[in-house]
Amino acid sequence: MSRRRMIYEGKAKILYEGPEPGTLIQYFKDDATAFNAEKKAVLDGKGVLNNRISEFLMTRLSAVGIPNHFIKRLNMREQLIKKVEIIPLEVIVRNVAAGTMSKRLGIPEGETLPRAIVEFCYKKDELGDPLVSEEHIAAFGWASQQEMDDIVSLALRINDFMCGLFSAVGIRLIDFKLEFGRHFEGEMVRTILADEISPDSCRLWDYETNEKLDKDRFRRDLGGVTEAYAEVARRLGIIKESAQGGDVIDFTSGMK
Ligand code: 5GP
Repeated sequence: MSRRRMIYEGKAKILYEGPEPGTLIQYFKDDATAFNAEKKAVLDGKGVLNNRISEFLMTRLSAVGIPNHFIKRLNMREQLIKKVEIIPLEVIVRNVAAGTMSKRLGIPEGETLPRAIVEFCYKKDELGDPLVSEEHIAAFGWASQQEMDDIVSLALRINDFMCGLFSAVGIRLIDFKLEFGRHFEGEMVRTILADEISPDSCRLWDYETNEKLDKDRFRRDLGGVTEAYAEVARRLGIIKESAQGGDVIDFTSGMK
């Protein structure tokens, strides 16, 4: 058996060459990093849960006409995706103040924003992914005006859909990060959603208690990170209703 060619290794995922031209395999690692990789850990089972949660969300988004890179899940840690040229922007949608928005603007965490706000950050680890304006994006040619318009419109549709989906299972979607790519279809190029959507890239709070069910548990040393991700998967109906902390180990064991 020949070794697969690795295309790219990120902090939480690896991309391998796919079986057909124009495809890639996205592998979800258990590695967790925060604060630009200054803080690191391996969280047993995180990759398995993120693979399943991202599959679920991408499939639901496809069903409502949001174009994305997901083709199918291959196994517990891998999914087949469409190859895209990643646009070097992190697109953040916020419904409630938290994280860097609260720090930057002095708005208390948990305060509902007057409307959903879309932010762009330039994807550059060395610089800590700085916040940029559409002016920067246009001037430096990171994306065209048409691409920015498509991204904002897709990001807001994704937000509407995901707010509804999570609120139905008692979760408040505070904010999340998206990445988009250029998908070449013959002569045409289309902007589609790429990367992943998971508790690594979203802030998800329990509606009743405000308990954090996302990566802030890791960033802020709250413990119970994988258990929180499993709770999200359980509420979405991805894993068994009865699955609790201990079952997470059963669910993920042998699935490295
Ligand atoms: P903040 O700007 O407040 O740190 O993050 C806003 C939202 O985007 C949060 O849900 C956070 O998880 C997500 N986010 C921001 N930057 C990154 C990143 O580099 N990686 C991931 N996975 N999520 C990010």
